[in-house]
Amino acid sequence: MSQARYWQAASAPGDVVCTLCPHRCALRPGATGRCGARANVDGRLELLTWGRNAVVCIDPIEKKPLYHFLPGTPTLSFGGFGCNLSCSCCQNWELSRHRGGIDRPVDTPEAIAAAAVRKGCRSVAMTYNEPAIALEYASAVADACRAVGVRPVGVSAGYVSEAARPEFFRSFDAVNIDLKAFSESFYKRHCHAHLAPVLETLKYAATETRTWVEVTTLLIPGLNDGDAEVAALARWIAEEMSPTVPLHLSAFHPDHKLMDVPPTPPATLRRARAVARAEGLAFVYTGNIDDPEGETTLCPGCGAPTLRRDRYEILGHGLDPHGRCVRCDTQLPGVFDGPPGNWGRRRQAVIMPAPH
Ligand code: SF4
Repeated sequence: MSQARYWQAASAPGDVVCTLCPHRCALRPGATGRCGARANVDGRLELLTWGRNAVVCIDPIEKKPLYHFLPGTPTLSFGGFGCNLSCSCCQNWELSRHRGGIDRPVDTPEAIAAAAVRKGCRSVAMTYNEPAIALEYASAVADACRAVGVRPVGVSAGYVSEAARPEFFRSFDAVNIDLKAFSESFYKRHCHAHLAPVLETLKYAATETRTWVEVTTLLIPGLNDGDAEVAALARWIAEEMSPTVPLHLSAFHPDHKLMDVPPTPPATLRRARAVARAEGLAFVYTGNIDDPEGETTLCPGCGAPTLRRDRYEILGHGLDPHGRCVRCDTQLPGVFDGPPGNWGRRRQAVIMPAPH
């Protein structure tokens, strides 16, 4: 447990209001917020989950997914408990919906940074559950990692208040943000949240921060996969963020509360990719299916394949160490520092040292 920031006293003595996310939970002493991570303890807001990670392992950075950030490299990935959204399609619901006691040791920010160095990871990824609800921990991890030359990245639903956005984006060199649909009705019914704050976060990220941003939308048959909705979503990204923001369109698999919805057909993802590209997005990828064409990064200058992938693995590339196309010298947008790595699609468990 650790004292939280982003709260204010409420009018009733001892009550507090958490201001970290748009839910603005009003909490009496002893009450926990909707995310399950922040609670009123004796009239102060505390972060219950500080450093208590459920999983620590090494993934390819492509799995976050981040396709334009140190491609081919391993990232030390970790995540804990709770989430401020409650999505019926959640694929990590055992972690995100966990409530109550957490029987896990604390991974200090310095231990996370040291593990990344020990394992040869150039980045760490706060993923598996929502990093924003543990912003104080994310920020401390970022400081510890940058001190040893490791870059912090995050995977988020972007449901962050205006007050917390600056610190949130300062904490990450790159983020992948879920845009779960392009309709308020989907966010209300399937996430118990609202679309507008997510769009505000995305626009803020693209226009007011130095953080590299990619966007992911899980296409769910019959719920958010219509051509008109995909076109509107892609058009919004192109106009309000940038046409060079990568968009990942991923396949849904039945999970959590949507066990009666079928998996997304590959043809739907390929069609959606064509629709999004027609709206002006330069980098649209398919995910969670076998589709080498949909995973390939094309040079925006000459159209040559500059990063060929197969299920997170880099099969070949045509980039110089700075991310320039070797054929036409066009700079690929993103973060490139050295030649693409060859980590492949491996996932490796990491045993964290016991705390002293
Ligand atoms: S971060 Fe958690 S406690 Fe704070 S407002 Fe959001 S859901 Fe409520």
